This record gives sequence, C-alpha cells and structure tokens, in this order.
Amino acid sequence: MTATSLPPLLSANGLCKSFGGINAVQNVNLEVEQGKIVGLIGPNGAGKTTLFNLLCNFISPDRGSVVFDGRPIHALPCHNICLQGMVRTFQVARVLSKLSVLDNLLLAAPHQTGEKLSNTWIFAQRPSIVSEEKRLRTRAAEILESVGLSHMIHAYAGSLSGGQRKLLEMGRALMTDPKLILLDEPAAGVNPTLIKQICEHIKRWNQQGITFLVIEHNMEVIMSLCDRVWVLAEGQNLMNGTPAEVQSNAKVLEAYLGQ
Ligand code: ATP
Repeated sequence: MTATSLPPLLSANGLCKSFGGINAVQNVNLEVEQGKIVGLIGPNGAGKTTLFNLLCNFISPDRGSVVFDGRPIHALPCHNICLQGMVRTFQVARVLSKLSVLDNLLLAAPHQTGEKLSNTWIFAQRPSIVSEEKRLRTRAAEILESVGLSHMIHAYAGSLSGGQRKLLEMGRALMTDPKLILLDEPAAGVNPTLIKQICEHIKRWNQQGITFLVIEHNMEVIMSLCDRVWVLAEGQNLMNGTPAEVQSNAKVLEAYLGQ
C-alpha cells in the first residue's frame, strides 16, 4: 500500500452547527492526511474555530461525524479524544496561570498513577511512582528546552508573554504524546521572531511524526508550513488544494477581499 492510499488520520463528514439563527458550520467536510501539516483558513466568522470545537467534541455537532485514526469520535468526551491521540490548542492560550510552567506540563501527561485516589497515599513512595515522576520531569524539561522556555521552568505560567504561553500550550500538547495536534492561530499576537521559531518547532515536530491541522490568518505561515489547505467561507467548504492552488484561486480571493 502506498502512502497516498492510506486513509486520512482525521476526517469530518457533513458537520453542521447552528447557534440560534447563525449557521456557523454547514455540511462541512475535512480530511487530514497522516504525517502532513494541513491548514484551515477563511475570513473572520467563516466557522474555523467552531469546526475545531466540533472536531474535539468541545461542542456537539447538530449533524455529521468525525473519524480519527479509524474510529468515530464525535460522541466521545474531549478528554477521551485526547487519550486517543488528538489534542488542541486555543486561539488565546489557556494556561494554568497560578501553577509553574513545569507543573503545567506535568499535569498534561495522561495515565499517571496519581490520577487514582487509591494510589496516592500509602503507596505514594512506591518506586514505580517515583520513577514515573522522574520520567515525566525529564520529558517536560526536554520539551521546555526544545521550545526555549527552560529558563522559565519554575516561573508562574501567568508571568509568561502571549507568545511564550502559546509555546507552553504546544509543549503541554506534546506531553500527551499526540498523533495529531490542532493549533488555533499559533502566530496570532506573536512577534515576528517568535513566529519564525514557532514555525520551525512545528516543522521539526512534524518531521518527528506528528500531524498538524493549523488555523491561521497569517498567510506567510500557512504558505510556508502547509502541505494542503482547506478553505471555509460563511460556514461552508469553499475549496481545498495546495498552498499555491489556494493562493491563486479566484473564489478564495473573492471570499477574502470581496472582489
Ligand atoms: P475568526 O477567524 O474571527 O476567529 P472563525 O472562522 O473562527 O472566525 P467562528 O468563531 O467559528 O469563526 O464563528 C463562526 C460564526 O459563528 C460567527 O458568526 C460567530 O459569531 C458564530 N458563533 C461562534 N460561536 C458562537 C456561540 N457560542 N454562540 C453564538 N454564535 C457563535
């Protein structure tokens, strides 16, 4: 079987979501191929974030289905979807401000022994728990090193800049050992130097095997990162294609510029 004949890692079919009279997402389809960086673009209000929320079941679809890694996930709770290997970040990074940067990462690692109350007290010193925590601390330190946040390891997450919070959120996603990361506007509100670094991190993580779906308004970022781009407008699929095809498509220009 060739790589191109593999089923998509993520597919959405006929997703619909209305808020009162607003049809935010109407019959939308999407496919994300394994190992790729896929862009999701569209003018303000096109339904991109609503689609992300539906993919993760952060909100329930009115209709439609989502299949991830061969399994239907649209009825699973978000935390379960994360355990299956799909994790997201937010447009405005959501960190636990009053915890340290390190603790923000440690909390994200799934299947920790301490998640069960029965494991937390008399067994607390069990060597396996101690070695688990050591392993997670080492992994967290590696991630912070890779995103250039080592010097902030013990700082409150709330003291980070907007761009650093985005990096912390991405680091937290990596702690779950994901197959697919959904990034909601990783470059929004971030200075140009940090945008370049964020793009380099995404490319490196992708080369290490992680697939990405990225919402972004910064077209330079989309064009430099993505293998394929899906375009939404007014809650509907407009087209999908390579970055070059999307950039030169008359319908896309019209949707953005109203020409
Ligand atoms: P942007 O690029 O500005 O972030 P977007 O493409 O992500 O926009 P959405 O945020 O998904 O678009 O919004 C799509 C439409 O749905 C908009 O008209 C928005 O006002 C509406 N909408 C989204 N969430 C809600 C909600 N919880 N209640 C009511 N309307 C909503």
